Amino acid sequence: MDYPPVLYRIIPIDPCAHLFEVICTITDPDPAGQRFSLPTWIPGSYLIREFAKHVVETEATAGERVLVNKIDKSTWVCAPCRGPLTLRYQVYACDLSVRGAHLDTIHGFFNGTSVFVQVRGQEHRPCVIDIDPPAGAQYARWRVASALARAGAQPYGFGRYRAQDYDELVDHPVEMGEFALASFEAGGIPHDVVITGRHRADLTRLTRDLEALCRTEIGLFGEAPMARYVFLVTALGEGYGGLEHRASTCLICGRDALPRPGRPEMSEAYREFLGLCSHEYFHAWNVKRIRPQAFVPYDLSREAYTRQLWAFEGITSYYDDLLLLRAGLISIDDYLELLGHTITRLLRTPGRQRQSVAESSFDAWIKFYRQDENAPNAIVSYYTKGALIALALDLTLRRGTNNRISLDDVMRALWQRYGRTGQGVPEGGVERAAHDVSGLDLASFFATALHGTDDLPLVELFAAFGIDMALRPAESDADKGGKRSSRDEAVGAQRAVLGLRLVEGQEARIAHTLTGGAAQAAGLSAGDVIIAVDGLKANRGNLEKLLEGYVPDDVVRVHAFRRDELMTFDVCLRAPAHDTCVLSLSDASDPASRDRRRCWIGA
Ligand code: ZN
Repeated sequence: MDYPPVLYRIIPIDPCAHLFEVICTITDPDPAGQRFSLPTWIPGSYLIREFAKHVVETEATAGERVLVNKIDKSTWVCAPCRGPLTLRYQVYACDLSVRGAHLDTIHGFFNGTSVFVQVRGQEHRPCVIDIDPPAGAQYARWRVASALARAGAQPYGFGRYRAQDYDELVDHPVEMGEFALASFEAGGIPHDVVITGRHRADLTRLTRDLEALCRTEIGLFGEAPMARYVFLVTALGEGYGGLEHRASTCLICGRDALPRPGRPEMSEAYREFLGLCSHEYFHAWNVKRIRPQAFVPYDLSREAYTRQLWAFEGITSYYDDLLLLRAGLISIDDYLELLGHTITRLLRTPGRQRQSVAESSFDAWIKFYRQDENAPNAIVSYYTKGALIALALDLTLRRGTNNRISLDDVMRALWQRYGRTGQGVPEGGVERAAHDVSGLDLASFFATALHGTDDLPLVELFAAFGIDMALRPAESDADKGGKRSSRDEAVGAQRAVLGLRLVEGQEARIAHTLTGGAAQAAGLSAGDVIIAVDGLKANRGNLEKLLEGYVPDDVVRVHAFRRDELMTFDVCLRAPAHDTCVLSLSDASDPASRDRRRCWIGA
């Protein structure tokens, strides 16, 4: 039967005060008292955020005023009444992130999870959304960008939009303002790139690169799952982040990361930005449609637990850079450098020896998304290790099947089995698909990789693909790995280190002391501010330099403030770990390895 739709109207009522007004009208409220609620979290970001905290006023009417009360932190209930019932409320929107809502005199942005109440019992009904412009001549040139289906609004215009149900409504973020807009087609699908914020981007190059990327990803799965797609980009002085949606993505980047006209080189920042676009676009298949069972449907009122985020974030992280290579946007050297960064990041996480990726995924709500000073020692990232598990799985499949099967085949099987059917992936479903597609016995591989804390056998796997993996000590705190040392390797080995990380800023405030490091062994703690090393004034900028000339086992006297108390520590410096990874094409590899390498990365 056809249900009457839920009507939403959203008005940027006061951009100076960062206030949206939302009016939700339903024809037939629950006779026992209609409940409305706002989500506590937004899919893709596994943290309880309690969006109801930004609601500043509520009022219900059904011909006359209807009493409305809160019954828990996120839920309002109206007194029993006859419809139509209208709930009107304001939302304070001052969170300039991809996860929330933001409104000022420059632009407006919202995720549905921040602004649209869920009409309890009517979540499956179609939604009609009227998006109003703010009042005032200064906003006359504002436009609207969203992948929401239009239902009367002109392209990029204010007016009426629609969604099939609440789930679809809140999966289509909306940007409004005087944004830059560029369009292209990939795989027969129209794509928009919308950029908010001041920038001087070369839109021709950006759309050309994104077209190559999107075409490559559609080619991998064999079909695009959406009818159109929108990249919603906010360019800032500094910033980085992205969130995936079924037909769009929200991205934040530094404006310098965008390519400039007349500057054809591939900067590291632009390469990273393209990697982010690649990542979020891949999610249109992997996590938006190939979804863990725990997300079908999303219960936005509480945590949704899954041990599978390694597959949804890790596999996606593996493919994001690999697809840049396949799309011809980066070189093989670039790709091996990026892989080197990822391996280095993992090796510098002592927590990898304490937490498995399955545990990291399950506890994302309280650990990965709520990292504290002990996080590097206690947890492992299901992104970083997950990406390397995907790499190891891909190489294992290719090696075990004589290049017949790769992770691509597993992804296509997952797409057919779960993505196209809308069925959730049960725990163990990815592992089963890998087995079914390849015929290989992968039980011990997955047991170790997903549920264990031993390091992955990457050196041996790379060797079978004609890649040398070497580990060296970091040559400075800024050394991310991926490249051969610019100095004599022996110099790096002679460095003496404290085994800590500092907070950004001028002073040498300790963010983390690392398990097994000199600072922790001497009693230094996160929060301590180091002010002197062997009697010489220390700050964040010179701490590394102050330690030059010392060798491992030298003892230095460190003065530091803990709160307001001056403390003295005798720190026995340690040698830096061999935790910096460099990958290179092997000269000595046999024909079979070279053949595998060619199938994998084309080298
Ligand atoms: Zn992701």
